[in-house]
Amino acid sequence: MTKMYYENDCDLTFLKGKTVAVIGYGSQGHAHALNLRDSGCTVVVGLRKNGKSWPVAEKDGFKVMTVAEATQRADVVMVLVNDEVQSDLYKREIEPYLTAGKALAFAHGFNIRYKQIVPPADVDVFMAAPKGPGHTVRSQFVAGKGVPCLVAVEQDATGHAYDTALAYIAGIGGARAGVLETTMNQETETDLFGEQAVLCGGVVDLMRMGFETLVEAGYDPVNAYFECIHEMKLIVDLINKGGISAMNYSISDTAEFGEYVSGPRVLPEKETKENMKAVLKDIQDGTFAGKWISENKNGRCFFNSKREQLAKHPMEVVGKQLREQMLWKNDSDLDNASN
Ligand code: NAD
Ligand code: MG
Repeated sequence: MTKMYYENDCDLTFLKGKTVAVIGYGSQGHAHALNLRDSGCTVVVGLRKNGKSWPVAEKDGFKVMTVAEATQRADVVMVLVNDEVQSDLYKREIEPYLTAGKALAFAHGFNIRYKQIVPPADVDVFMAAPKGPGHTVRSQFVAGKGVPCLVAVEQDATGHAYDTALAYIAGIGGARAGVLETTMNQETETDLFGEQAVLCGGVVDLMRMGFETLVEAGYDPVNAYFECIHEMKLIVDLINKGGISAMNYSISDTAEFGEYVSGPRVLPEKETKENMKAVLKDIQDGTFAGKWISENKNGRCFFNSKREQLAKHPMEVVGKQLREQMLWKNDSDLDNASN
């Protein structure tokens, strides 16, 4: 079994007398900063002078400063800005002030894995990655619980990188739920694969094509939306709680029989696996990362046009109308989840 750590394995005193700079105050940033402060840590927040998050972090009572100032002041620098802006920001405002013995931390391994950020050898580099959206990291912490985290140490210059990483994760509440040891390479590659092949790429196309198939056959789009999109959450909640067998136990035997008969027709085993392996290969050899990096350098034309196109799709239009009428629109579980 993989190594797991819990609160007893973590010692928050490794952050005592130290300052943590949380860079970015979005989904993860606000949760890390608030949880660490509630755990007794000294936290400063590093942001852009005219950015939207500045007044928000200030209102929450933090000392807010530029990223350069925060890095200078801190012993641990946690980078929680969007992955695609990290590399430029690092070169401009973090690297010059990252003196020996400091720790540089991330919640996702992308920039280290694909060498968009190459830290100096005399700093610790670790990852503390909650396996849930930032708003859940905060709400669970407030409820006395935590979101499970991944821990990885990429560079141990001080000999205490693990201690610092585990103390950090205890500070954000992750050790209450369990901390899984990994590497930044493994986290990055499995994370990208999961979101591309299954969670986002796979599921969205599956729902869209199901919806389109019913509508093209003349069925009511509202009905199609319920069956192919809305109910996804109900099924996934069952899997999340009890696994696939428990989900199968809850659904009708007719549904379960259909799963066995038609699943392989919709997703032919051999072809689907071959395609998945090709997706994984592009992740492993850097092809996907290269595409995403150049997409960002070139104004995100493809990305923006896909986003616009999707927003206009009938399934989105129908879904919006339904949510406006229905009770579940205020469901707090529907935080801006990703990763
Ligand atoms: P986000 O988009 O919610 O927030 C980004 C923050 O960075 C905002 O406060 C924004 O104002 C700030 N920012 C953007 N550009 C900046 C710049 N140039 N200088 C200073 N500040 C800038 O991002 P997020 O979802 O919290 O992601 C942060 C990190 O956490 C990423 O590495 C991501 O992969 C990782 N992560 C996210 C989740 C998730 O569910 N959201 C889960 C696990 C890990
Ligand atoms: Mg993920």
